[in-house]
Amino acid sequence: MSENLSNKTSYQAPSVCPLDCPDACSLNVEVREGKLFRIKGSTVNPITKGVICGKVSKYYPDFIHGKRRLSKPLKRVGAKGSGQFEPISWDEAIDRCYEGMQKGIKAYGSESVMPLNYAGPHGQLSGGSMDMRFFYKLGATQLDRSPLCAGVRSLAYRSLFGAHVSMSQEQLEYSDLIVLWGTNTSTTYLHLMKTIKKARKKGAKLIVINPERIKIAEQADLFLQITPGSDAYFALAMAATFDQLGMINKQQLADKVSGLDKYLESAVQYSVAALPEMCGINQSQVERFIDLFAHAKRISMQTGVGLERSKNGGSAIRAAMALPVLLGQFGKKGQGQIGYHSPGYPKTHDKLQRPDLLEKATRTFNIVDAADHILANDVFTHDVSAKEEKVPISRGVPIKSVFIYNHNPVAVHPDQNKMIKALSQESLFVIGCDITMTDSMKYADIILPACSSFEHKDVYLGYGHNYVQRAEPVIQAVGEALPNTEIFRRLSKRFGFDGSTFTASDEELQEQAMDLSSKTYAVHKVSELPTDSVLSTVDKEHIWLSDMKEGEKITLYNEELETRFACGLPRYDAINKDRPFTLITAAAFNRSNSTFGGSVGDGHHPLEKVSINPADAARLNIETGSHVKLYNNKGEVIVLAEVTDKVAVGVLCCAKGAWCDSSPTGQTVNALIDSQSKTDIGNGAAFYDTYVDAVAVSNRTVTTPNEIS
Ligand code: SF4
Repeated sequence: MSENLSNKTSYQAPSVCPLDCPDACSLNVEVREGKLFRIKGSTVNPITKGVICGKVSKYYPDFIHGKRRLSKPLKRVGAKGSGQFEPISWDEAIDRCYEGMQKGIKAYGSESVMPLNYAGPHGQLSGGSMDMRFFYKLGATQLDRSPLCAGVRSLAYRSLFGAHVSMSQEQLEYSDLIVLWGTNTSTTYLHLMKTIKKARKKGAKLIVINPERIKIAEQADLFLQITPGSDAYFALAMAATFDQLGMINKQQLADKVSGLDKYLESAVQYSVAALPEMCGINQSQVERFIDLFAHAKRISMQTGVGLERSKNGGSAIRAAMALPVLLGQFGKKGQGQIGYHSPGYPKTHDKLQRPDLLEKATRTFNIVDAADHILANDVFTHDVSAKEEKVPISRGVPIKSVFIYNHNPVAVHPDQNKMIKALSQESLFVIGCDITMTDSMKYADIILPACSSFEHKDVYLGYGHNYVQRAEPVIQAVGEALPNTEIFRRLSKRFGFDGSTFTASDEELQEQAMDLSSKTYAVHKVSELPTDSVLSTVDKEHIWLSDMKEGEKITLYNEELETRFACGLPRYDAINKDRPFTLITAAAFNRSNSTFGGSVGDGHHPLEKVSINPADAARLNIETGSHVKLYNNKGEVIVLAEVTDKVAVGVLCCAKGAWCDSSPTGQTVNALIDSQSKTDIGNGAAFYDTYVDAVAVSNRTVTTPNEIS
């Protein structure tokens, strides 16, 4: 902590938004009496230029200093999930974590420990540095985090275009056709709106494709209210139609694109005539779509994660991204895909996270299956016949301890009731580490209070642009909270992991996050980057795919995806809708995933809203404001109806990331989602393959599940 902070009580300081959002806004934080008082945007980041979303300015001060804030290490004293804890010292907390993990390790080995972390903070240090070193060295079960969100999209992008950075969002200004597909841009990609507006002023056309008539759809030249999960069908049918209409210059593409013939031969099976039934898209909309594509000279596209969230998700993204390619739409400014920036950063992950510390290969679990793996503990059996001591038979090592950090699995994983059941096991030792008391922390045996991004130094890389930003702490740590890096330093020490790898300071870790020396950047070390400045690592004028090597091609047929997932070409598999409604769970306006889910109201959450089409509402005797029970064989949730034609007949839309208090059933929409439903590539969570019944329930305030009729 900087000495300066302890000497001053009121001041303004630069910072960066750490939330799971493409923009990584630069912030100007006002501190009064040592507390975060107000957060505004700063103009440091040329993309975010002083504008931030309402949720950050509204909820962050309470998030940091409010009653849910965790400020001391805690031990559980009541039943799991009851939220009863007592404060303990850091030394005791670290000892208890050590003993809890060691118990499982002694009996079953180090794979009995599983980290359960995701993308809470997006700082390079807090998001994955000393923690990863610790779990690698320990030999813990490893976790593949990408299937929970955006991993399918990244895989789809790379399968077509390789590891080439996407087009800068600034270049959208040069596009004359912008396609926003499966993304609610004004909620999840706020600053792109400004550039879209600029392009529109110059005459750019706009196509919006989404199952919900989102705000920006109202400005679109063409809005397609597509049936959830049918995007792959539509995109492939359009590819076949482009071919039939002679819009594809195959000769011109030959040098740049591979697999074209195979792709088009396969696409022929998807018929335009079937689009009204399959996708909810009529003939005149198809004609308009073709016309807009045919006349555009510079097409840009943003595909959102909404597109990946069905079993055809990977195919949907690949087929959508392929459409401009088929028309030769690459090689000029304003032509390209938006939102894949990782290859544009000189990251040195291996140096930061040290996977080489893993002494022998360990298993890697899909994060989406975490609850199943934890519950496998219950069915784990022992061979007791041969020896006195129980000997595990070869069903794998059971998970005996789980370390939850940077994550709120109860709120964000599919199959919420299964996750709750898994974490509730008395035989499971749960360590929780977070900034606030979340739904998941309630299941912890030991809670370690973590610093927020405003209390430690870190370095941030936006995933919607290529600007690096560095932040110093702007307030003192609240109570006894510690940065993640320090927590894992202390744990490493307790486990006897020594050497500079485990004592590296945050300053050292920052430098190990990126290599700025190899190129002619404005600074050569992370620490040289002023906190009121950004470092651009990709020229915003960089032409998409212009860095492809000689002979490298855009790959429409992908061998690797064929081998791994039998999905070399995108395809559409029929959807089995076994209940009247498809439930889509889109990004919330007032939350960043589940962050701020506990900040609504004074401990009393209002019911979440569900959008329902007027025809469905009339049939079910539902009005705006009615209490509605959504249910299937996995769970039930009470929500408040909003009758609107923003959704089509047979489709319901709720915001994701609510906390359990928001429904009298103690469950959120995630309780209705099947964790076993996976995407065609990448084994991602198919959140939108969720089918439910809906029924009106009594409008009186329901306070317990028993009162639900
Ligand atoms: S959540 Fe996104 S838009 Fe809001 S302040 Fe953070 S980075 Fe900016």
